[in-house]
Amino acid sequence: MSAEHPHPAPSVRRRLTALALATGLALGGTAMATPAGAVGKGPNHNPRSTVNTSILTTHAELVAQLQKEDARQDAMELTVIGQSVKGRDIHLASWISDPENPTILFLTQQHGNEQLTTEGAMAFIKSLGTGKMRSVLDDVNVLVVPMANPDGAMGDVDFSLEDYIASGDRNLTRYNANEVDLNRDHVAKTQPETRALHENVLGAYDIDYMIDLHHQGTRSAVDGELVSGSILYPTSPNVAPDVVEDSQRLGSVVYDAVEQYGWGNLGRYVGGTAETIARNGVAAEYGIATLLFEMRGMSDHEYESYVLGQRSNGYLIKQTVVTLEATTKAIADGSIETADIGFWNTLPEQRTLPLAAE
Ligand SMILES: [Zn+2]
Repeated sequence: MSAEHPHPAPSVRRRLTALALATGLALGGTAMATPAGAVGKGPNHNPRSTVNTSILTTHAELVAQLQKEDARQDAMELTVIGQSVKGRDIHLASWISDPENPTILFLTQQHGNEQLTTEGAMAFIKSLGTGKMRSVLDDVNVLVVPMANPDGAMGDVDFSLEDYIASGDRNLTRYNANEVDLNRDHVAKTQPETRALHENVLGAYDIDYMIDLHHQGTRSAVDGELVSGSILYPTSPNVAPDVVEDSQRLGSVVYDAVEQYGWGNLGRYVGGTAETIARNGVAAEYGIATLLFEMRGMSDHEYESYVLGQRSNGYLIKQTVVTLEATTKAIADGSIETADIGFWNTLPEQRTLPLAAE
């Protein structure tokens, strides 16, 4: 056991022991053991020992936070763009200082079990009300749709989540309440969540850029190093070349911003050409430059290797904030126009490491 694999602090052990005695539970050896591979820094694997969904923002808490920011920020507008299958409101937060400005849309949690991007988006929304970011908003319009799949995020669905791994108040699932993958619904648009997004955001605003934020499994790596995330531009042949190039520039801004941090390690996402997914479909249908950003590890899943312990939450939320702030600034000051897209030629495709490799 190296120093990088610390035991629980003595006080935690004492508390657990006291709890076990107090409740009459016999805690087995496995419950007290240090999880293999658990580390306290950076993008490393931490199995499900501490995956408790209770710490994640609920839909009701998200709405309350959005309303609070709306009341606090003059420049912010909050609108309901539609309802989920189970009737939860889906919100759009917008900052439109000048219709002539370039506009970027940030979309989170189409997959309900990929929540830290939403936590990061909320931090970003709060930052837009601070002196640090407020002046940036003179030169760029910002749209944020956080938690696009609230029923999945709340585990309020019409199918069983029995095999899901996380503990806590609720399970979180990729699908919406009808067990449909919303990020395969961008052509047919059969679901109310997808229609709300297309009818009241994508088709209703003049949008230049979009980042679609997701979480992937925990074992993706480049050059043997686990990644903090992966990125990709639209690869459908129906997307105009200039839109692809703008998308690659958007990716360049994200890459440069994230790689400045010790925890930042990005790979190239390995993705297909289907327009049922937002990265391709939104670019093809609306001519919007898109970037898929897949952050490491999901909040819940049936597969253990997809779920990341909450010890990594801090840097993953930070990665979202860094991404949203950097792209907003680069669009506002025009520096995105000269972003170097050459790095895409050498950005390695990520590969999945077996669990035993670490
Ligand atoms: Zn996803």
